[in-house]
Amino acid sequence: MVPEAPPLSRSLDELNSLSAEDVLRWAAEEFGDKLCITCSWQKQSSVLVHMLASLGLAPAIVELDTHLFFRESYETRDRLVEKYGLTLVGPKIPSIAEQHKAEGPNLWESDPDRCCHIRKVEPLIEALEPFGAWVSGIRRDQAPSRATIGKAQWSERYGVWKLHPLADWGEKRVWTYITSNDIPYNRLHDVGYRSIGCIPCTRPIRTDEEERAGRWAGSDKLECGLHLESIDKE
Ligand code: SF4
Repeated sequence: MVPEAPPLSRSLDELNSLSAEDVLRWAAEEFGDKLCITCSWQKQSSVLVHMLASLGLAPAIVELDTHLFFRESYETRDRLVEKYGLTLVGPKIPSIAEQHKAEGPNLWESDPDRCCHIRKVEPLIEALEPFGAWVSGIRRDQAPSRATIGKAQWSERYGVWKLHPLADWGEKRVWTYITSNDIPYNRLHDVGYRSIGCIPCTRPIRTDEEERAGRWAGSDKLECGLHLESIDKE
């Protein structure tokens, strides 16, 4: 049965007009300990971790560690954890050896949608079970597939309100916020990785390419599936 959206205290239009800080303040009041945020240790994670700390808010932080992150992503996580005193929670994700045994070697090459489903989507469904709202750092200008996201959207797949406080932020604004607040960030961004995921599916990009062109490059896959509502696709 498709879960129905619980009513919110404010309209979606009102929420869309709020600043990132006000979306987070409202969400903390609205959802209390049923609010969580996911972090993948890219630049948006740095912004949101700092913003929450500066607002005195401490929702649960869910890490989806696919076991295939770059060393620099783990270093970013460790620096943010140390600076902001974060406590992370995370679902169990199969080891690479377990996946190789069950699905064959290098599933990310033969069937990346299935690999993302096993390593990201299924664990996130489990991780979101106790929560009523999920904060994500995705932005409208990252890709055409994200161009119409609202600051609050009901997710039938996960049965939570999905919140995007940075929906209307551009990449430049993200960097201005990070540098002006001296926030630890993923150093791979300095060497051509404008969007960062798992090692096998991420490459640096040229300056004339789109921000997410280095993800699943050479294939028509644009999203890992976390932010897609169409369950049929997987
Ligand atoms: S991004 Fe690549 S390696 Fe990571 S879960 Fe998806 S297909 Fe697998």
